[in-house]
Amino acid sequence: MELRLYDTLTKEKRNFAPIDPANVRMYVCGPTVYDFAHIGNARPVIVFDVLFRLLRHLYGEAHVKYVRNITDVDDKINDRAARDYPGLPLNEAIRRVTEQTERQFHDDVDALGCLRPTVEPRATEHIGEMCSIIEKLVAGGFAYVEQDHVLFSPSAMNAANGVLPRYGALANRSLDEMIAGARVDVAPYKRDATDFVLWKPSKPGEPSWPSPAGISTPGRPGWHIECSAMSWKHLGETFDIHGGGIDLVFPHHENEVAQSCCAFHTSRMAQTWMHNGFLQVEGEKMSKSLGNFITIRELLATDKFGGRSWDGATLRLAMLKTHYRQPIDWTADALHEAEKAIFDWSDFTKDATPARCDEVIAALTDDLNTPKMIAELHALRRAGKADELRGAMQLLGINPVVRAPVDLDATAKSLIEARTAARANKDWKESDRIRDELAAMGVVLKDGKDADGKPVTTWEIAR
Ligand code: AMP
Ligand code: ZN
Repeated sequence: MELRLYDTLTKEKRNFAPIDPANVRMYVCGPTVYDFAHIGNARPVIVFDVLFRLLRHLYGEAHVKYVRNITDVDDKINDRAARDYPGLPLNEAIRRVTEQTERQFHDDVDALGCLRPTVEPRATEHIGEMCSIIEKLVAGGFAYVEQDHVLFSPSAMNAANGVLPRYGALANRSLDEMIAGARVDVAPYKRDATDFVLWKPSKPGEPSWPSPAGISTPGRPGWHIECSAMSWKHLGETFDIHGGGIDLVFPHHENEVAQSCCAFHTSRMAQTWMHNGFLQVEGEKMSKSLGNFITIRELLATDKFGGRSWDGATLRLAMLKTHYRQPIDWTADALHEAEKAIFDWSDFTKDATPARCDEVIAALTDDLNTPKMIAELHALRRAGKADELRGAMQLLGINPVVRAPVDLDATAKSLIEARTAARANKDWKESDRIRDELAAMGVVLKDGKDADGKPVTTWEIAR
């Protein structure tokens, strides 16, 4: 089956042909480990996990290598370490913060049904590779040393002849426009406003390493060079797929391309560039100041969103309902809908023997068309094909959810009484909350009137 993927660089869907089908290679930019991951961060993790599973299905499990890095050098990490462990030496505090955050991240994305990548390299373990790329860039005339910093020069890249791509091609921007639009208060160590940092001096107490390019004071890497170094180490100079959220196209991925192609004299860093759209919450940008910021952990283990907690499989299915390149609106309604399907499918397939379903795979091979794929899952359910449905759920990492056995009758009755009392008090919020709680148990309510015209509520199992 042909796999077609949309490429951000060429802006078209193209047939995917791996450089080496026996070793299909994918790199995705991973988390900066200083705090719980939010539900927006879960989107690339889930989307590229589905792609990883599809590639394993198409090329064989042993022939796909998925690398997702862990960024463990960053100002936000240093700040958090100093705040949380004021009594410890900074390096020790940083180690605690990054190890703890990495564990939390793994627990969260495991619960979302994501496979661990083949390799999860840490930035701090690849400083040698970063220095070696920086040395190559300085030697090639693409980077220069100034005031103990090393800077990459996009102008030098675009002035060079040969195979190199044009700086700005991935983000579809022109360097001249970037230079013209740059702010005037450019850092004194930059020759050009568009030059970006490969290496910089560490402030006293910050993590530091011996510097490259003849700089005598210790320093630390810039952000972009990390991914060029880790992808090179684990996947080689050129590989198949590079992914991340759409916000990473510029400057992060543009700069990764610049560094890798100039260091290795190649025309491409990755054959295909894939970017997921952004997630917003109930129609608004997610932000701490708006109070709608929500972590994966809060969704899984607290009642902060929609008044209750949710299964990982529900969150995963809700995420896949929208095509990965579209913006997604994260709503409680969508979670209820996904949950209803998960409960129904899990129950319907509980005795099934997983079987292959070509329609589901066909939908995925069309640039990960997950809305179409979900429609196929519903069609399998309607057609009574339990084996294929179970097989498709397995392929997609949608783990069945077994509903806790509750005495539905007694529970529903007492919740309905509580809701009737809430309605009598005109507490519509509480009444809605109880209705949602029942809906989550698969119970739908019907409000009507009895023979005397008094309001009564009856219930039935949703189908
Ligand atoms: P960060 O920790 O901000 O570097 O983000 C880690 C990953 O999550 C990157 O691939 C981002 O593009 C992605 N990401 C961050 N916020 C969102 C969001 N609201 N929606 C979708 N993806 C996001
Ligand atoms: Zn990256």
